[in-house]
Amino acid sequence: LFAGPVDFIKGVVAMDGLPPADRPEICFAGRSNVGKSSLINALTGRKGLARASNTPGRTQEINYFGLGERAYLVDLPGYGFAKAPLPVVKRWQELLKAYLAGRPTLRRAFCLIDSRHGIKPVDHEIMTLLDRSAVPFQVVMTKADKLGPNAIRPVLDQVEEELQKHPAAYPELVVTSSDKGQGIATLRAIIAGLD
Ligand code: GDP
Repeated sequence: LFAGPVDFIKGVVAMDGLPPADRPEICFAGRSNVGKSSLINALTGRKGLARASNTPGRTQEINYFGLGERAYLVDLPGYGFAKAPLPVVKRWQELLKAYLAGRPTLRRAFCLIDSRHGIKPVDHEIMTLLDRSAVPFQVVMTKADKLGPNAIRPVLDQVEEELQKHPAAYPELVVTSSDKGQGIATLRAIIAGLD
């Protein structure tokens, strides 16, 4: 699935802008600065494909990428950006809700969690929204290289405990580092298995 070309399709700001639901898709969600752009670039092997998304002006766009013609990879706007004005936050929350509830071809959401920080209240909110929308989701830990194997354990414990509260969650975590390449092949294989 990742062997062929990966193309930017479009940025979507409203439900009627979504491309036709004619192929399976997966989406990535996470707090601003969690390492989402870096992960998408590492997965696709295309540096600069997903730009760093932590600028307020870009927070409302849902970015669609094509994995050849076979699937869409969807980059959801980073959330929890403190400086975004309230109307902007509200608009994107509405779009996110509508997207998650109304996209029949969405196979799985990947929720990115920073290995140093664990699950924050905003992450919990998104996971609850995924439960309500019946979108199966899986947690991807990012920036694992910033912690040693002993330091990451309590964070993984916290995340695993939280996931027990979420009926839509897969219990298995994927631990990644975009910088070191850790977990990238595993995540590619999981995504290819959903096709
Ligand atoms: P986004 O806002 O979620 O798209 O986050 P970015 O991908 O732009 O990453 C935010 C910051 O974290 C940048 O400074 C990245 O260089 C850094 N970063 C991202 N992934 C990793 C990683 O795997 N390891 C390390 N050490 N830093 C990372």
